[in-house]
Amino acid sequence: MVCMCFMVDQRRKMRGRKPVAGSCSRCSRGASVADMRTYTRFCYVPFYWKSWKAIICTFCGAVLKSYK
Ligand SMILES: [Zn+2]
Repeated sequence: MVCMCFMVDQRRKMRGRKPVAGSCSRCSRGASVADMRTYTRFCYVPFYWKSWKAIICTFCGAVLKSYK
């Protein structure tokens, strides 16, 4: 049997966040610091992920700053 599925994609998940001082450069709403996790998936099965921190906008989802 040959697997014809070569789909690789990435999913970004937010695991928790709390408000910080500062505002979004796009919509000027409140920013939050969030624990992010990026999953790399192959055929919808996550096989690799990494955690990172970012300051994001809670309203439009823009990443204002990220920490590795
Ligand atoms: Zn925004």
